[in-house]
Amino acid sequence: MSILVTKSTLPPFEEYIQEIKEIWDTHWLTNMGVKHDTLQALLEEKLDSKHVVLYTNGHLALENIITAFNFPKEAEVITTPFTFASTTHAIVRNGLKPVFCDIDSDTLCIDASKIEDLITPKTVAIIPVHVYGNVCDIERISSIAKKHNLKVIYDAAHSFGETYKGKAVASYGDASMVSFHATKVFNTIEGGCAAFKDDSMVQILDDLKNFGIRGPEEVRFVGGNAKMSEFQAAMGICNLRHLDENIKKRLHIDSLYRKLLGNVSGIQLKPVQEGVSSNGAYFPVLFNSFKKTRDEVFEQLSENEIYARKYFYPVIQDYDCYKDKYSSADTPVAKKASLNVLCLPIYPDLSDDEVKTICSIILG
Ligand SMILES: *Cc1c(COP(=O)(O)O)cnc(C)c1O
Repeated sequence: MSILVTKSTLPPFEEYIQEIKEIWDTHWLTNMGVKHDTLQALLEEKLDSKHVVLYTNGHLALENIITAFNFPKEAEVITTPFTFASTTHAIVRNGLKPVFCDIDSDTLCIDASKIEDLITPKTVAIIPVHVYGNVCDIERISSIAKKHNLKVIYDAAHSFGETYKGKAVASYGDASMVSFHATKVFNTIEGGCAAFKDDSMVQILDDLKNFGIRGPEEVRFVGGNAKMSEFQAAMGICNLRHLDENIKKRLHIDSLYRKLLGNVSGIQLKPVQEGVSSNGAYFPVLFNSFKKTRDEVFEQLSENEIYARKYFYPVIQDYDCYKDKYSSADTPVAKKASLNVLCLPIYPDLSDDEVKTICSIILG
């Protein structure tokens, strides 16, 4: 049997059936029904956020958060090149210019000490990413933003269920986006949300995800359609009940990997950060000066039907759609990490024996 990098979490089948039964009575399938509103309220609590607006996926939540701030066209946004395509695309699709800041070699999040050098009169925001659930330097980013009057929007796609200093990671910044995609720690099949404090943003984000329609005869914005359906929300309600137990299983695997791969020369593990309670979402490993290259390890695992992922590779500047405008040579730490990183399989029912097999192939 092959092992994939992840395996989507599903609640017990009967539990989901029970949850969607009502939908057959009401025939209310989407457009902010009971399941949607229930999940939204549960997540406001879970994410320690005054407001949560649900979306059909995380990407459109991020796009709409950026739109909601109404930045001037062609303004600049400082961000990281070591992320998933979504982060940069959300900036560009809003008509804004991404400015790539290099990353910290330990957390692989944006290097806060390099942000100020990139600020120009056109800079309006910083969009960092809590990569793999590693938490950015929130305090330093916040003080830079205050000093220069910039907004901070976190791509917290990887951070569901994590806390920093006792508060949900997604509660920091002017707004955060969390993804509930099938491959994430918590899923609604496809899904995501915006989490934030500002009361005035609620109506704007509600409107933007529903064609800008405010009332039966009132259309205020040129909005798209990004509503979460009742079936997605029902999946979220069920999966939320099992979140703690799933995170616990993930953290068991995380600690087993650390036991087997820690103290091996040339292998850099995901850092353990002070003040952070981790969600075990990913287990990235960097092969910096190991006896085998990242690609050799990847190939050997593949030959054994174990499919790790080169995540994130390539860096954003090297994408076909960006390579004419940007150079990855400007962010050497990110470039190097993308060449050396491999995300190892991790999901709640991955067995100890499977983890041992994976590690013995890596070390063999
Ligand atoms: C998954 C992910 C997204 C996008 O989320 P979707 O829900 O798949 O649209 C954005 N950023 C990062 C870093 C992600 O991993």
